Amino acid sequence: MSQNAFVPDPEQMMLWPDVSGNDINGLNNPNPSNPKYVYWGNSPEDVAFGALQRWFYSVDPGLPEYATERENRAKILAAPLKDVAAQKAEMTDPMARIFFEAAIKNKIFDKAGVARFDPLWAFEGVEIKFRYIIVLGVQHDYDAISEAPKPEAGLEVMRQYSRAAFGAKSVANWLRGLGWDAEPLTGPMSGKVTLIPPALASGFGELGKHGSIINPEFGASFRLSGVLTDCPLPLDEPADHGIDDFCQNCRICEVACPPDALFSEKKMVRGTTKWYVDFDKCLPFFNEHQGCAICIAQCPWSRPGVGVNLAKKLHRRKQRKS
Ligand code: SF4
Ligand code: SF4
Repeated sequence: MSQNAFVPDPEQMMLWPDVSGNDINGLNNPNPSNPKYVYWGNSPEDVAFGALQRWFYSVDPGLPEYATERENRAKILAAPLKDVAAQKAEMTDPMARIFFEAAIKNKIFDKAGVARFDPLWAFEGVEIKFRYIIVLGVQHDYDAISEAPKPEAGLEVMRQYSRAAFGAKSVANWLRGLGWDAEPLTGPMSGKVTLIPPALASGFGELGKHGSIINPEFGASFRLSGVLTDCPLPLDEPADHGIDDFCQNCRICEVACPPDALFSEKKMVRGTTKWYVDFDKCLPFFNEHQGCAICIAQCPWSRPGVGVNLAKKLHRRKQRKS
């Protein structure tokens, strides 16, 4: 039990629908199936927790920068995409590498991975015609995210979502200019595809107990966006850094979570046993604290410089045991 007892605002709880978000997410469902929209739907009208989503935006964070950042993101989202060039250019591995390395060097985004698209990653009822997905990662500023659950951390999340959206549109425009159709997937609304499974499949890291991906370079402190395409880019592989084992013996996020939304063991979710966040416990706190982020800020992997050394140590330990 967390030391920090949290009592949700009754005004918010009045909006709670007559359904569990965990049920919608497929908790304890042994059958593989597509995810369903639950909270960050594309429109609050279409999802069970839409009234709670609207309430999230009604909480005044007390920082004027929120309005500026929302305007910035709206401009990025509204910018038109390039037309797809009539002539398809051949895509080579060096061309792809040069583009992604330059984009990372120029801080457009911080990481990219490519996976073959699995139809189970699309939200229920959404049909995806593309064969591949490119996943992009943008890292939070650690000092800012460490302020969680203060509004300064939420502001940093918004900044990175803007960057993620810009990155996705830049990649899509690059491909479209080369004659390959490409569709950007920008957060924070759910869009068409859940991004964590393709990020895992394309080498972003492993799922942590707090339900976010962890990798040695950025810890859990990053956001995702994506691009759907048919362009045959070089594919990436899932990564194993020993993080999943590490989480079995660590309780930092569990203890730090004010509403006790994190489980000490994995759960069955739509046919996969994995770490899972109790949606019904997390959401009220998340909603009242501009997206919270305590668990990702407190995760030891998120501390600058820690993850890379920790992964090396775990790798050496694994080699000694084998
Ligand atoms: S976001 Fe906050 S409330 Fe939700 S699981 Fe993480 S620490 Fe808990
Ligand atoms: S805080 Fe510990 S248990 Fe939680 S995700 Fe990070 S490493 Fe895993």
